[in-house]
Parts: sequence; structure tokens; C-alpha cells
Amino acid sequence: MPDIDPSEFDVSELGPRVRSIEDAEELEAMLAAERDGENRDAVITVIENRLSQVADDDGGDAGDADVDLASMSVADVGNALQSVDDPERLRDLREREVEGENRDTVVRLIDRRLDSVEGGDGDTGGATVDRAPPEERHPELDHPTADKRHVRALDDGTFGDVWVYCETQAGDLLDVSRELLGKARELMDGYNDAYVDDGESDERVVAVLIGDDVSRHADECVALGADVVVVHEDDRLARFRHKPYAELFADMARWGVEAPARDEAPASADGGATEDAADWRDYDEPRYVLFPATNNGRDLSAQVQAELDSGLASDCSGLFIEDVGISNPVKTGAPGSTRTFERVLHMKRPDFSGFEYSTILCLDNPDREFHPQGGSVIPGSFEVPEPDPEREGLVVEHDAAIDDDWFRVEVTDFDRLEGGVDLSGHDVVVAVGRGIGADPTRGMELALELADAFEDAAVGVSRGIVTGSYSFDGHVAEYTGEDRQIGETGQVVAPQVYVAAGISGAVQHKVGCDEADTIVAVNTDPDARIRDWCDYFVEGDLFEVLPRLTDAVEAGGLDVAAVADGGRGGGGSDADPRADAPDGEVSRDA
Ligand code: FAD
Repeated sequence: MPDIDPSEFDVSELGPRVRSIEDAEELEAMLAAERDGENRDAVITVIENRLSQVADDDGGDAGDADVDLASMSVADVGNALQSVDDPERLRDLREREVEGENRDTVVRLIDRRLDSVEGGDGDTGGATVDRAPPEERHPELDHPTADKRHVRALDDGTFGDVWVYCETQAGDLLDVSRELLGKARELMDGYNDAYVDDGESDERVVAVLIGDDVSRHADECVALGADVVVVHEDDRLARFRHKPYAELFADMARWGVEAPARDEAPASADGGATEDAADWRDYDEPRYVLFPATNNGRDLSAQVQAELDSGLASDCSGLFIEDVGISNPVKTGAPGSTRTFERVLHMKRPDFSGFEYSTILCLDNPDREFHPQGGSVIPGSFEVPEPDPEREGLVVEHDAAIDDDWFRVEVTDFDRLEGGVDLSGHDVVVAVGRGIGADPTRGMELALELADAFEDAAVGVSRGIVTGSYSFDGHVAEYTGEDRQIGETGQVVAPQVYVAAGISGAVQHKVGCDEADTIVAVNTDPDARIRDWCDYFVEGDLFEVLPRLTDAVEAGGLDVAAVADGGRGGGGSDADPRADAPDGEVSRDA
């Protein structure tokens, strides 16, 4: 049995633990235990990935000739396979493994290596890759996107600049738009140094403003790093609307280009397509696009990238541009070769609840180009740059006609929130998470009651509550929205005491509260991740523990300053948070 029994953890909890294991044998034992037990695909992938990393770290270079499967551990096989590029040799190794020890993981590693050297399903026998579009390869199937009017695969297209969607809300430019302009400026400065020769024109940062009365932000966009600002104003665009915003952005991106379309139909019968060639640019489509990963930005980014027949890396938090060598034949056109893709936007995003970061690349196929390379970016990922009022830029008006049909969804009513809720600056924050699931309304009531018992406390929630499909009664619903979310994509708080009830302790939540003086967690699971970083861990059901805490605070048995001081302050034994501990085991964890 391995030291860590995978069946005791879900995949997001297992990830950080697996990452710290260096011992291939322990990983193999975990893999076997998982296969014999719950056999979860995600867990198997996590352990196998770690096995390959451990193999890579070992730095062995067994070489093609040294692959003697019978005598090798899974990790060694994984390592040795990296140097085998010949599909026939890999097929031979696979056959020998199946006839010999027939280890599932080894077979999968060989299959993966085959996939990587051959692409596709690993059974092309070394032939060139069939690149016919799915519509031709599978005419018997329904292809609902085959007649997508807006899909315009460019043949030998030209690309340039980084475009930034500068979102506004209620007329104001969002901070995340400023952050993106700063990052785009930094990216393009580096890009121009690396790729643009003397005498050639630099590639630029293009800010996109869509809305009503948004051109007033153009100067600020320039001051923050834009070289060009493209503006479309219309009073019908005062609030974000999915269809017209997406149509307009896509039309700006294709502006003035006669698209050599796979489909000849015009972009729109009545409006939208900008007829005149754009004299401010000389490329078919933007090279890169960035959107804020806000509600509206996420919505817009997905639709625009689909319209432009490209891909999207969503919710990124890191960006850089670099060349990359790729040997996947789907991208190179033939097995066994490596192609260098230049100027690739590397988009890093958190996966598996943030314990692992993936880097997403949007690469052309040999017969098909995928531009713009685009991503949406989590607010707060980059610094807001210092504006430079001396910067100069070009402001361009986009004057395509708006199709009335784009507004066929009628918005009959909407509420505007009176400004956000500021959870910072309170002595205490009581936050609840999915642990309230058994009775969500009662769970929120208990959090509010505990907050009321303190002199100065606010109620916050984990993202699990914001994105969960709980149904709350009206009197607590207002406390369950995104404006009260704490964490990486919510607010950051630093109270004296932070109570986290029914919150597992994902890293994205932690970054929103770990500046608190003292963190008290209430959780039924003694192995919840939050136990690793809280100060006090109350093992118990929040529905029982929170009322007891409330009683203790009301009775004066819990003093905020003393709890914040870890019970060491001058409050004597009464100040020890454990003195009036509610039911459940309380442990001091840090
Ligand atoms: P869960 O992980 O489901 O945990 C519920 C916990 O409640 C469990 O530990 C369980 O043991 C406990 N429990 C169950 N019943 C009871 C009970 N009766 N009494 C006591 N305990 C009980 N999350 C954030 O919070 N903030 C963010 O800003 C944020 N940003 C993110 C950004 C990105 C890009 C991504 C990918 C994720 C982000 N997340 C964020 C999500 C985060 O990864 C977690 O999924 C989320 O925090 C989980 O919420 P939770 O702890 O409420 O739910």
C-alpha cells in the first residue's frame, strides 16, 4: 500500500500531494491502488503525469537501444520513450509489453508517445496525416457548423498587432482593461525588439472600445499603452449585448479584408460588414487578442474567437511570446519532423483548481490558420500601468451599420447594483462555502448571525457558493453573489479574524484571506486542505458549530483581539478561543 492512499482524496486535493512525491515507486503504488480502487481517469492522469516528470527529472537517457521493458519500472519506461521517435519501434515495444508484463500504464505511455510522434489516433502507420476537413471525411454525419457564414479560413493570411478589448461598465473603464493595456504594451515592446527589423514598422497595441459614449476613454487607452484605439459608439450599445458586441468586434478584426472564404456568403445581409479598406492597417486579422475574463468579457471572447474561426484560452493569468518547436504531425504535416512556430503567444492558466498551470498555444495547421491567437485574462493578474499623458496614438472610428436583428432579444428590465460590497476593513469576516449545501439558506443565516454577534464583521462566500446552483430565500440571497466572493477572482481581505466555515481551502480561496491575523476553519473533513493553512481547525458540522460560536461571542467568551493574537494576548484563560469551544474537536494548527 502506498503512503498516500488516493481513495482518501478527490483529484484537486491529491494534486498538491502528488506534486511533492519524488519516488517513482510510491507513485506506481498509488497508481496501482487507484486502479484497483476507484479507478478515476483524472486521478490516473495526475499520477501518470507526475510519473513522467519524475522520470524526466531523473535525467536518464536510456536511448532507443536500451528500452528493455521487462527490466524497467514505469518511470524508466516513460523516460526512455522520450528518445524513441520511430513509430514502428514503438509499436514493437507495445507488442512486447502486451505479450509480457502487460502493464496498463506502460501501454498507455507507449500509446501516448505514438500519438505524439504520429498525431491523431496513433495508427497512421507513418503515412502523412489526413487533413481533409471533417465535413469531407465524415459526410454521413450532421455538420451543423459547416455552413457557418462567418467562418473565413484565410489562405496565407497576414496578421499583425495585439488587440485588447477595453471593457467599460456603467460608462467607466474597468481596471482589468487598464491591466491588459499595460501587459499588451510590454508584450509588444518585447515582440518588436525580437522580431521587427530596423526600418520595418513596429507592431502595435490596438485598444477596442464598444459602447455608448466610450470614445472619451480613448486618450486614457493611449496613455496606458495603446497605439491605436478603434471605437464603435451607438446608444443601443450602452449595456453589453452579446450579439451586437460580438458582430462588431469580429467585423473590426476583419475590417476591409476581402476574405477568401471557405464559404462565400457575406457576413451579414443587412449590416455589419465594413466595406471600405482600412487605411490604418495592412493585415487580414489581428495577430493576438486579449479580453478581460469578466462575465461579459468571457461571453464576448468565446463568440468572437468562434466567429474568427480561431481558439481561445480562457481565464489566463500569465502571457508571454516565444518561438516553439512542435513535432505533432497534426501541426507539422508529417510524422517525425519538428516545426518551429514563431511569435507564439503562450497563455498560462490554472488547472485542477489551480494546483497545476497549463500553457495553451493556438497554432496553425499546415492547411489552416488559426488567428487571432487569443485569451481572456483573470482580473488582477497584471499591474495597472502608470499612464503616460505624453503618449500619442491614432483614434479610428468603426462605422459599420448595425443590424436591427442583432437586438431581437429585448431586455425589458434590469437592476443596477448600487456599487460593490467592500469586505475589507472589517475586524472579522465570516465566510461560508459549499459546506452549507445541506440547507443553504440556514447556512447563510448562521453566518449572518455570527457576523452580527461581533462588533464589526462582514459576511463573504467562496466561489463554490457563487457558481453553485443553490436556491436561497430572498432575505439571504443578497449575501451570496460574486460581489462577496473572497479569493483570487474576488476580494482580498485581511481582518483580525477570518472564519471559514464549510470551505475546503483551495489555493484560489486562500489568496483572498491569508493576510488575516488568525484563520479559524470549521469543517467536517479533518483532512480538508484548509487545515494546512488555518490557525484553528474546528472539526465539526457548521450547522452545529456556528450557533455555538455565536453564543460564545455573545456571551463575551470569544474576544476578537485575543483570538487574533492566537489566544496568547493578555486576556487570560478566558481569551483562549478553545475555552468556550463549541462541539467538535478544536486543534491549533499553526
Ligand atoms: P468545496 O471545495 O466543495 O468545499 C466544501 C467544504 O465543505 C469541504 O471541505 C467539506 O468537507 C466541507 N463541508 C461539507 N459539509 C460541511 C458541514 N456541514 N460543515 C462543515 N464543513 C462541511 N474560489 C474561491 O473561493 N475564490 C476565488 O476567487 C476563486 N477563484 C478561482 C479562479 C480560478 C481560475 C479557478 C479555476 C478557481 C477559482 N476558485 C475560487 C474555485 C476554487 O478552486 C474552489 O473550487 C472553491 O474555492 C471551492 O469552494 P468551497 O470550498 O466552498 O467548496
